[in-house]
This record gives sequence, C-alpha cells and structure tokens, in this order.
Amino acid sequence: MSRDKDLHDILSGKVIGTKEANDWKKQTSLEREKRERSKISQNQKYSSFPKQYNKDKARSLCMAPWTHLHAWPNGKVFQCCSAQQDPDDEYLGNLHKESLENIWNGKMMRSIRKDMMKGIRSPHCKKCWDDEDTGNQSLRMMLNHRFGHHGPELISKTKESGRVKDMTLRYWDFRFSNVCNFKCRSCGPELSSGWAKDHTKRNELLGYPIDVKDLTKPDRLAMLWEQIEPSFPYVEEIYFAGGESLMMEEHYRILERLIKMGKTEVRLNYNTNFSKLQFKSKDVIELWKHFPEVHIGASFDDYGKRAELIRSGTVWSEIEDNVKRLKKELPDIWKRFFVSCTVSIQNVYNLPEFHKHLLDTGMISYHLNFFCNILHGPDWLNIKNLPDWMKDEIEEKLLSYEKFDFSGVVNFMREQPTGDLYEITPRFISNMDTLDTIRHERWRHIMPELRHIAKRPE
Ligand code: SF4
Repeated sequence: MSRDKDLHDILSGKVIGTKEANDWKKQTSLEREKRERSKISQNQKYSSFPKQYNKDKARSLCMAPWTHLHAWPNGKVFQCCSAQQDPDDEYLGNLHKESLENIWNGKMMRSIRKDMMKGIRSPHCKKCWDDEDTGNQSLRMMLNHRFGHHGPELISKTKESGRVKDMTLRYWDFRFSNVCNFKCRSCGPELSSGWAKDHTKRNELLGYPIDVKDLTKPDRLAMLWEQIEPSFPYVEEIYFAGGESLMMEEHYRILERLIKMGKTEVRLNYNTNFSKLQFKSKDVIELWKHFPEVHIGASFDDYGKRAELIRSGTVWSEIEDNVKRLKKELPDIWKRFFVSCTVSIQNVYNLPEFHKHLLDTGMISYHLNFFCNILHGPDWLNIKNLPDWMKDEIEEKLLSYEKFDFSGVVNFMREQPTGDLYEITPRFISNMDTLDTIRHERWRHIMPELRHIAKRPE
C-alpha cells in the first residue's frame, strides 16, 4: 500500500487509531478541520438542497456528480474517491480514450445523477450508504455540507437524462502522475515511478512474472491540463496526492495559476511524503504563504533508520528539517499539520516510540495531529498476519502507552489472519530479504523484534 493508497484509504474510511481517530474514520484529510468546527447533523445532510426536493429525494443526493471528478494516473476517472475501493471497480471512463467532458456526461455519470434526483440510492455509491447505515459519516455527507449550497442551481440545470451542460468542477482530485522519489516497501510501480527498477529485479529474484509494460516511463495524464483549464474560475478546493504531490509539475502550475488569478481562497489539501519542499526553481513554502487554507497530511510511519528502511528514499534528518521549517515559517499551517501513519508489520511494534519521538521533537504538538491508517494489503505486511505470541507482546506494549490510544490498532491486529501463516510468513521473509538484496539493506538489523517472526509454538 503506497502513501497515496494510504490516504485513499483514509478517504475511504479504513482509518483506525485513537478514540478521536476512530471518530474520524470514514473521513478525508480535507474533512477533519471542518468536523472540528461543525458536526454535520442528520438534518444538515440535506439542508442545503432546493426546497422543491422533498426530504426523501434529498436524502439520496450527493454533490459529487455535480461538482467533482477524481482521476488516477492510469487515466481512470471516478465520481469520487469513495467510488474506487478496489482496482477492478467500475469507473466513469478513461482519459486515454475519451475527454473529461465526455466522461462528465457519460452514461454512468448520467445514470448516477438520474438515480440521485429520483431519490434512489445509486448502486455506484455503496461505500457511502454503508457508512451512513452503520452510523458513520460518509464522503457524501461531507461533500453536501461543503458544496450543498450549489445544489439549487446545479440540479435545476440538470436534464432528465442526467446531463449537465457545464462542467464546473469545484472540488478537484486529479492524480496527475505516479512520479515519486520514494519506493516504500508496501508500495509498487503503479503508484510510485521510483519502484520500477526494483520491481523488475524483485520479480526476477522471486520468480514472479515480469511485466510486459514499460514501467520506467511514469504514468502521466499529460492531456488533463487543458481539460481542467475551464474549471479554474469555479474551483474551491483541491486535493493533491500522487505519486508524490510535491514533485508534480502540475501541482506548481495550479498554485501559480491561482496566485495569478488572485484566487488564493481555494482550500489546498495534501497527502505528501514531505521530503522535498523545492521542485526545480519552486519553493512550496513560499507558494503556500499566499494561501490561508492549507492542510497537510504527511505519510510518516516511523523515525530514523526505521523510516528510511520502510519508505526507501527517506532521509529522516531532512524530513525533520522540513517540519521545523514549516513550523517556523508557517505556524498556522503547522498547527493543522498531521502525521498519517500507515500501520503494518514493519512498524506496529515501534508505534509508541515513534509517537513519543514526534512529540518530544516538537514535530507534532497534539495527539490529534497523529492518526493510524491500517494497512490491509499486501497481506504479508498486514498485522493480522502476525503470530499470536507476537500479537501478545505488541498488545501489551501498545496498551500500556499512555499518550495515545492504540486500542483500535490492537483490535484490528487481533482479528483472524487473512490466510495461512505457514504460507504468508515465508512470503514476508522472502519479500523483505529480496528487497534487502536489491537495496543493500538489512531489515533484521533495523527491526530486531521481527527476527523471530517465523517462530512457532513448541
Ligand atoms: S454518494 Fe458517495 S460514492 Fe456516491 S458520488 Fe457521493 S461521495 Fe461518491
């Protein structure tokens, strides 16, 4: 699971952590501050919609199909990130085959709008309905809360067929490319261009099939820029993720364009590895100084050498320097800065030390600036697949830590393994050893607590 996937899971609600973080599960980074200021009540779910829509109809509406699109580096476009739960999920269209405008009024998008206007729960929105039916907040609720005031105008202009003439995208989530300077052990070439070489070598060493596709060229949505240009006057909020969002040319072009337009009230949300604050001649801190609403979620899973092994490409001292710089030059943004920690077999044992280190070094100041995002795949890194004797040790350690409530992590870890440990654990060892060979690293040395992972009860 890549950093990008991590945040995708946060967006999708697979977030487990403190009591507060549990309250936040099913929410996006861009929802968090909003929630603190204003909890969305049941009535508010539809309060911004036009009066002519009765309560039942308004209950099925969501502003996403009228204000938003979500594109992946491989060209697939979804109505939102909640719609994309699995790689094989149905998508609205592919930018390599059709234009954004076509997709905006394509068959699937029209059908979603039509269902919503008729008061029908769209089958393409299962995730949101599951969330709401189980008492959790959904992305739909957040988007309605944020953009519902546009509902009257946008819905009244919608044809019975579901067609909306103007594509006025107010909330953008475009993953322009998979360019990334990191190659996290849990990730792969689909979401990190840095992984390509290691992926081929790993597959050779492990005897896995070698990809036919040329992975050395990053996936890039070169055609997207022209297509989003007409939406600049409408944009209110942007979510940047990757790849690595701060290494994307398009990210800087967007910020500069907004500054030039004097449109700096746009809210900027980030998922980033926070390793590079400069890109070519650009300095993101200088650019952020123009924007009062910047929200940064940093993918840090551990500190020091452990961080450098888990997310290859990390230089931990540079990460610390970058956070210090943010804190010094943009203290208001730093106050909202949060660490999104992907919990896997690699770091679960060390979570208390990591959290304490963040507090002790002043990288974060408040427990709400940290939350845990549990890794589900690959299975060989999933904490459910630890042996029981290790789970016992970890549980004791995590639950005795007082500065953060890791009970959600423990509960997840205590669930049944996802498969046969006699098969999964050797795969953990072979994958970790193979990456060590390729990268000249030594996981047993850096993570001594995992050395005996294959030990079985007598
Ligand atoms: S209801 Fe949920 S899944 Fe459907 S479009 Fe809205 S946010 Fe996306």
